[in-house]
Amino acid sequence: MDLYDKDAGDILPVVVIGNGPSGICLSYLLSGYTPYLSPEGTHPNPILQSKLDRNSHLSLLEQDLEYLCEGLEGRSDNPVAVLFDSLLLPDSDFGLDCASPLTWRYEPSRATPHLVLGKGPPGGAWHAMEGSMLTLSLANWMELPGLKLKDWMREKRRNVRNDRATPAEIASYYQHYVTQMGLERNFACGTVTSVQRVHLQEGGRSLWEVQGLQKRPSVVEEESGEEEEVPFSVFAENVVLATGTHDIPARLGVEGEGLPFVSHSFWELEAAISAGKLDDTSDPVLVVGAGLTAADAVLATHHLSIPVYHAFRRSVADPGLIFNQLPKVLYPEYHKVHQMMTQQQHQPNDALSSSVESSPASYNGSYSGYVSFPRHRVLSFRPDRKCVLQGEGGRQTVLQVSMVLVLIGAHPNLSFLPEEGRPMALNPGEPITCRRNPLDVDPFTHESVQQPGMYAMGPLVGENFVRFLKGGALAIASDVVRKRREKELTSKATVA
Ligand SMILES: Cc1cc2nc3c(=O)[nH]c(=O)nc-3n(C[C@H](O)[C@H](O)[C@H](O)COP(=O)(O)OP(=O)(O)OC[C@H]3O[C@@H](n4cnc5c(N)ncnc54)[C@H](O)[C@@H]3O)c2cc1C
Repeated sequence: MDLYDKDAGDILPVVVIGNGPSGICLSYLLSGYTPYLSPEGTHPNPILQSKLDRNSHLSLLEQDLEYLCEGLEGRSDNPVAVLFDSLLLPDSDFGLDCASPLTWRYEPSRATPHLVLGKGPPGGAWHAMEGSMLTLSLANWMELPGLKLKDWMREKRRNVRNDRATPAEIASYYQHYVTQMGLERNFACGTVTSVQRVHLQEGGRSLWEVQGLQKRPSVVEEESGEEEEVPFSVFAENVVLATGTHDIPARLGVEGEGLPFVSHSFWELEAAISAGKLDDTSDPVLVVGAGLTAADAVLATHHLSIPVYHAFRRSVADPGLIFNQLPKVLYPEYHKVHQMMTQQQHQPNDALSSSVESSPASYNGSYSGYVSFPRHRVLSFRPDRKCVLQGEGGRQTVLQVSMVLVLIGAHPNLSFLPEEGRPMALNPGEPITCRRNPLDVDPFTHESVQQPGMYAMGPLVGENFVRFLKGGALAIASDVVRKRREKELTSKATVA
């Protein structure tokens, strides 16, 4: 969709910034796809079932979500996420494949006009992930309402392995979903550069002006195939932030972090491997971090017999460590990394307060070429490819490395908002992060507490898994429907 040609006078009820699973799921609900309790639908939770029965003539979008959420517990801190997950995939935590009690009706008359903006094709972060890794979640946890991922994969004659799918398959599923559900007309490619509140003269209305840049074939050099960026501007009553948090890699903030052998992206490991710069004779790669991307880097290097050091701040038994939260049976390779971290820990020489580490190849154990440094932090990187770690009690260890991968998470890029959106965070004094400092929203509407008319979903509100971010879409769509209903009633009352 060309945005630069759009009539600047148009006012959209909703503009969604971000076209990953969050933006796609919200677009589905805003496009008239409406969830009801199916006449034959039953939910394993009898209390929830009786609440749903009471208002079965109403769609879920018209019901009191706070009331339905009461008493429900699940693996998310967002109550509507737990509710919607429990309705879409009842009891899936127990490995059960219970049918959803919901039925979806397409009711175009209920649709809310909206626009979803994204930098690339629909699918968000999934287009940027490494192509061959297995995903973390069970495949049905990654799917969006109305199109079974497994059915789609079978249709494509892809092998459904181990109930899981690759990022490339998931990205392709999300793109297909947008086409199959007829959502394409609401999607446009464009990078948002500014969102600000504007006040209209007539009626004293307050709106959001969303500005950005869209690429189009160069009109000056038509034949060259070159592209140019053209500014656009759209006005909206409500803006939804669904931009994810994978834009800016987190940094350690230590000396030497800018040296060329220190990288903050999994891709650079791939590039070094493809370019033949790393092999089993190289100095070790140092992986810093104990999240899933760090685990993927450990697996990739270890798989190619490239020696690897692995440093992280927590202890291996820390309950906050993601590996201690994942069922072992479902995620065998991450369990393997946890085993490596536990079984092949660096053994310091107690006599020394500082030491130079020998190569991981000299460590005997099941995972040759790997050594972990739990409860260690990086002090500095030196130009001669040495890295200084500090362990408990201040003991320092110097490592000779070929490359360092600092994979300790990422921050969202909300540079298009005043003060990068910080005033809207739970703690406005700190940078916004998915886990520690998400945006402060009403739990049942996902509307910003500080900025009415601004909503947020997905990792920006601490919801990092596709399974749960769908709840944000339900909360926002319900609130938008409520606002529109109230507006209609007010305008009818004024006419009368
Ligand atoms: C390595 C890795 C593995 C993961 N594995 C899993 C897994 O197994 N299961 C799971 O549930 N989750 C997993 N996740 C998390 C998953 O990525 C998120 O749950 C999900 O993608 C978040 O969806 P989203 O739509 O909110 O944001 P994203 O998918 O991040 O999409 C946001 C989109 O917003 C757009 N955007 C950003 N800024 C702008 C702007 N200024 N203007 C216009 N558009 C903009 C971008 O185009 C971007 O694509 C993984 C993440 C990583 C990094």
